[in-house]
Amino acid sequence: MGSYLESLDPNSYNKLGVLETFDIIVLGGGPAGIAAATTAAEAGHKTLLIERLGFCGGAAVSGMSGTICGLYNSVEDPQAAQPQQLIFGFAERMRSALDLQDGLTAPQIYGKTWVATHDCATYKKVATDFLLNSGVQILYHSEMIDVLVQNNVIDGLVLHTKSGFTKVLGRRFIDCSGDADIIFRAGLITTKGNNGIIQNPSMMFKIGNVNITRYLEYWGDDTISPPKVVKKLEERQELIRKKVWLFPTVNPGEVLVNGTKITGFDGRALDVTDPLDHSEAEQFSIYQAKAFFNFLKEEIPGCENAYFIDYAQEVGVRQTRSITGVKRLTNEDVVNGTKLKDTIARSSWPIELHYGSKPKTEWLIDDYYDIPFGALVPSSGKNVIVAGRCLSAEHEALASCRVTAQCFEYGRAAAMATDLSLKFDLNYQDIDGMEITSLMNENYYGQKNPVF
Ligand SMILES: Cc1cc2nc3c(=O)[nH]c(=O)nc-3n(C[C@H](O)[C@H](O)[C@H](O)COP(=O)(O)OP(=O)(O)OC[C@H]3O[C@@H](n4cnc5c(N)ncnc54)[C@H](O)[C@@H]3O)c2cc1C
Repeated sequence: MGSYLESLDPNSYNKLGVLETFDIIVLGGGPAGIAAATTAAEAGHKTLLIERLGFCGGAAVSGMSGTICGLYNSVEDPQAAQPQQLIFGFAERMRSALDLQDGLTAPQIYGKTWVATHDCATYKKVATDFLLNSGVQILYHSEMIDVLVQNNVIDGLVLHTKSGFTKVLGRRFIDCSGDADIIFRAGLITTKGNNGIIQNPSMMFKIGNVNITRYLEYWGDDTISPPKVVKKLEERQELIRKKVWLFPTVNPGEVLVNGTKITGFDGRALDVTDPLDHSEAEQFSIYQAKAFFNFLKEEIPGCENAYFIDYAQEVGVRQTRSITGVKRLTNEDVVNGTKLKDTIARSSWPIELHYGSKPKTEWLIDDYYDIPFGALVPSSGKNVIVAGRCLSAEHEALASCRVTAQCFEYGRAAAMATDLSLKFDLNYQDIDGMEITSLMNENYYGQKNPVF
């Protein structure tokens, strides 16, 4: 792999303990990666999880995305209904663990469905519990920068660490980077949004000292901005997003704000796989978030004495690369509520497309669609599978299936498929999706007679 690997002092990678072969290497510690690594290690495999940051949670923590979306059904009038949980498995393990550690709100209305808002500190703790208890070897502060590939088989990953470059070797790879980094580096096919146009990022932030009673009296129970707030937003030139979501959290007086749309300073759409665009997104975010905070203080009852707790650690990225899988979730599948025999998760989450001044929400009322196993399997490449938001999906379909309840299940499905692949020496393309469906059903947490 050339001179940069040779530049590493061999003692440093011995110290890291990484110059060895793992059964399974999971790249990325977001919702998909947490589920994939935990499930893989629980199945008895020597598993390594690599994460460029110093904690797990991915966009749900570093981007403060803030709620578990996709857990519940969608109905015409949530005010007159009770939420029904649609998805269990690892999503339920995470939900109940967060709840047990007082890190999750009760279901809150979001348009025609419900979400539950998590506390990021508790999320970090719960993720660490799962990973350590299952025996996953974690490697933080290490960024995957290249792959070692021969004859379409990946042998290892090249990492950049503080000690220099190093490599880790593995038999199977689960790409949970969100950006399909392994797939991209291996030269396999990826696509980006709608002919390169991707959803806009947002900078999340939290505010404190909100008078929640007064705030709720004005805003109402729906976490999506009511028409009177939209009208006020339309009058504010400095705010480029005109429809927003606000979530009271488990902490007294605290509200999580999903209220910004991030573009370049000149208003152009950004591609955050370009480091210059990504840097501009971080900078523009600072001003949009503060401008939105000022709006809340000036206009929203209950927020007059609020203070700005903090920005998310980084701008929240909704979409970058998607793989080209043996199957692709289409926009039609989502809109028509397509049901499948080789499903790995179901979803009633709307198409929540962040583009333009008002995000579009297109609902699937009293219905759901299935996501096929093949959407995780790249059309070529023998020993790599993906889980999480980089799965194979059309642009608008991705705007629905990217949320975290489903990402947990993609991670679980990818790990179960990897278990089969190792036991029977199978390429992922040769695994029958229906077998994964049935294995997932047998190992379903939270329900006696599970259904997807
Ligand atoms: C602003 C915003 C708000 C959102 N709101 C919600 C919400 O309320 N509810 C909800 O359910 N979903 C929400 N989402 C969507 C959800 O957060 C993401 O779709 C989900 O986190 C994707 O999970 P993932 O595991 O696929 O990837 P990610 O969460 O993106 O995690 C990928 C991980 O891989 C790591 N990584 C990436 N590349 C490398 C590399 N080369 N080397 C090492 N590590 C690497 C990253 O550091 C990261 O930790 C929101 C997203 C955004 C951006």
